[in-house]
Amino acid sequence: MMNAQAMPNVDEQTLLDIKGLKIWYRTTRGNAQAVDGVDLIIKRNEIFGLAGESGCGKTTLARGILGLTKLPGYIEAGEAIYYRQVSGSSTVGQDLLTLPPHEMRQMRWRNIAYVPQGAMNVLSPTLRIEKQILDAIYEHSDMSKEQARARMLECMEMVGLEPTVARMYPHELSGGMKQRVTIAAAISLKPGLIIADEPTTALDVNVQQVILQELKDIAASLGVTLIYVTHDMAVHAEMADRMGIMYSGLMVEVAPVIETFKEPLHPYTQGLIASIPAIGGDRSRMVGIPGNAPSPLAWPTGCRFHPRCPKAMEICRETVPPMLEVASGHYVACHLYPTPISGATPASGATPAPEELN
Ligand code: SF4
Repeated sequence: MMNAQAMPNVDEQTLLDIKGLKIWYRTTRGNAQAVDGVDLIIKRNEIFGLAGESGCGKTTLARGILGLTKLPGYIEAGEAIYYRQVSGSSTVGQDLLTLPPHEMRQMRWRNIAYVPQGAMNVLSPTLRIEKQILDAIYEHSDMSKEQARARMLECMEMVGLEPTVARMYPHELSGGMKQRVTIAAAISLKPGLIIADEPTTALDVNVQQVILQELKDIAASLGVTLIYVTHDMAVHAEMADRMGIMYSGLMVEVAPVIETFKEPLHPYTQGLIASIPAIGGDRSRMVGIPGNAPSPLAWPTGCRFHPRCPKAMEICRETVPPMLEVASGHYVACHLYPTPISGATPASGATPAPEELN
């Protein structure tokens, strides 16, 4: 098997181990360093929420893991080791970033499925729903026609679609139904990991609520790990077990979702949470984050958040804060928290050392 690796430093709960991942875009004005040194471990059977403002690199990261980085984007450095069981309890890791295209195509759908941004527009308008789902099943599995059809109908039922929908064309479906079709297709081959990138953004709030709950239930019942990408912190509060906050191409805080909301440590995370509108709450207390996100063509020195940070100190302008575990399972990259708790080690999500950025 290509790129198979032993599993020396990750525990059995590790599904995906992203190390030092940098995804850059070549532009006429230099390299846009969209993802710039992300380390992250995704565990089996969890819902991991990936958050941050538009342009922070979260979609680039999600697509990069799936081998969908397109020119002028390219992998500058790093690994994304996916661990899967091959027989019995034996597990091998494969670096998704170095798999040949035909092997990556096999991994997609079978092992890792993607529900993309704007999923409602990815369905071909000229093909019946059944053709679109069945073609994907045939291409990525060796199921017979009967097995594939049975599996399609099973998945459609799981997302609340009547069997009659299979014979319809996309224009005959509502936005919510089209979204359900993309989810049914994503789960059709029982992948170990689904990456859903803002799948409900275009839906009205009521439909969004129903689909989020369905996605959560499906992940639990199938034992699928879900990486859910959205800037919407309220959705993360509802969906995620753990979450990671990205800012300017880096992970700045990783923690269980309850801790993220109860005790956000990074000033950027605090700003994101403070800007969530509360229904019936005191709107005068809703605070935005001042300033604009910097350009990936020229990140600020030191902590990249320092030009916008209300708590910035002198050291912040010069030195990149390392990611440290400051409480059990709670990692933050900020000079306000210079000392890890006793026995804690720098997170595997560590921000690169300053010299690595130069
Ligand atoms: Fe703010 Fe400094 Fe922490 Fe960055 S390192 S978030 S500038 S306090």
